[in-house]
Amino acid sequence: MSSDIVFVPLGGTGEIGMNLNLYGRGRADDRDWLMIDMGITFGDGSIPGVDILMPDPAFIEEKRDRLAGLVLTHAHEDHLGAVPYLWERLRCPIYASPFTGSVLRRKLTDVGLQNEVALHIVPLQGRFQVGPFDLEMVTLTHSIPEPNAVALHTDHGIILHTGDWRLDPRPVIGEKADLEVLRAFGDTGVAALVCDSTNVFVEGQSHSEADLLASLTELFGRFENRIAVTCFASNVARLETIARAADAVGRSVVVAGRAVQRIVEAARENGYLLDVPPFLDEEAFDQLPREQTLVLCTGSQGEPRAALARIAAKTHPRVMLEEGDVVVFSSKVIPGNERAIARVQNGLVKLGVKVIGESDHFVHVSGHPGRDELETMYSLVRPKISVPVHGEARHLAQHAELARTWGVASVVEAENGSVVRLTPGKAGVIDEVPVGRLVLEGNRVVPLEGLLVRGRQKVVFNGSAVVTVVVDGWGQILAEPQIAAVGLVDDPDDEVIGEAIDAIWKAVDGLSKGARRDDDTVRDAIRLAVRRVFRERLGKKPMTEVHFVRV
Ligand SMILES: [Zn+2]
Ligand SMILES: [Zn+2]
Repeated sequence: MSSDIVFVPLGGTGEIGMNLNLYGRGRADDRDWLMIDMGITFGDGSIPGVDILMPDPAFIEEKRDRLAGLVLTHAHEDHLGAVPYLWERLRCPIYASPFTGSVLRRKLTDVGLQNEVALHIVPLQGRFQVGPFDLEMVTLTHSIPEPNAVALHTDHGIILHTGDWRLDPRPVIGEKADLEVLRAFGDTGVAALVCDSTNVFVEGQSHSEADLLASLTELFGRFENRIAVTCFASNVARLETIARAADAVGRSVVVAGRAVQRIVEAARENGYLLDVPPFLDEEAFDQLPREQTLVLCTGSQGEPRAALARIAAKTHPRVMLEEGDVVVFSSKVIPGNERAIARVQNGLVKLGVKVIGESDHFVHVSGHPGRDELETMYSLVRPKISVPVHGEARHLAQHAELARTWGVASVVEAENGSVVRLTPGKAGVIDEVPVGRLVLEGNRVVPLEGLLVRGRQKVVFNGSAVVTVVVDGWGQILAEPQIAAVGLVDDPDDEVIGEAIDAIWKAVDGLSKGARRDDDTVRDAIRLAVRRVFRERLGKKPMTEVHFVRV
């Protein structure tokens, strides 16, 4: 039997977020596996109490003795955020660049895994072996330091997994994308390109981070009171751009939000952010004149616990904004966050603060490739096969169509769980494996489709009623039944509760003598009677529990 190479995404293909990619090598029943990235997605409030979602790694967990390692392309949460929660299920070595390693080490320390995980630091452009996989890191540009594509060198050509990328000719931080290596790969022969689809609908080429420096400097120069800027903490190039623009207009940068401080530390450990004036702690806020202050804060997506939301709600312990100040959103709106962002912006406007976003001024550049950059990538690497990833279905379909028009012989439209044969022979989806979603619930990781999360949703949407009934051995009710209703009535003595209690008496009286001696029969009769009252009187189907006590 011939040995083939397959690509199996468990997350991130058909959605933007929670990337988890697998490459398998060998016969179908005897494969070695490599994982690239293991990320999370932040909840959008649709599931009560759930802030963090991640792919279910069950498929690879079963085969973890054949999982050679996990390679991280870069330090964004949608690529490494699940490592602290899922690594113990896999226990494989991890490979990352120095900056990504620094970010991951802090996360592992938070959960006490820092001494358990074998974390191998791979230099930029490093070539390294992970089990039977011959790998090479390729430097690209993105909205975080050290973004890498991973090249798998195989007997059937190179497989290039791009990770998140763009081609910024003038990045503010780090190296330019290594176009020469990409071209050389194309000359050698690229069997397959597995590529970022996020900005496939964006015409043309995005601006350079260096262009943004001029734009922000000009913008900051217009204002006389305080300026606050919010962006993603991990966008170290943006932190540098903001710091330089602030310095150019004579302002000091005060950092509000722990996430920024952590990234600044990780960046400095790796030689970034060393040429800008120091970032000051929140304590410095009081001492700076209004016209010399620039507050850099977290919360660009409206996250309710982040610094900006607290400033807008006037609950931040140290930083305050007032009439005449301005807040610049140097970030894009991630779909799903519109309402949360609007809530924060409304709060700021009510304080008399001016809000400036992408539609008002040039304040942000994307980290993902627009159509021109995608076309450049295809023309450099000239892949035989294209597999669009890192996008919702609409992004993947559009990317597939473009790849065809750019002359790619074989375009495979995969989704999470697809087993895609890349080489040898005809490329295509040859099988499917189970996929699922896990959520972080308090400090546990539980299935999204499990009873716990479903029960939580049911209670939130429909309320709950807990009924307590005490009967004797013959099934006679011994005391007035009790109903504890949550989220159903404003007044605990509401008459609907009385009606439900009457219905319990009737339901039990209506049972035959024999039926009354059977616990399950009595419990079911009570539950049905109570639910009927709530359904008919309130139009609700609450989660109904019966505590049934026989004495
Ligand atoms: Zn990403
Ligand atoms: Zn990214």
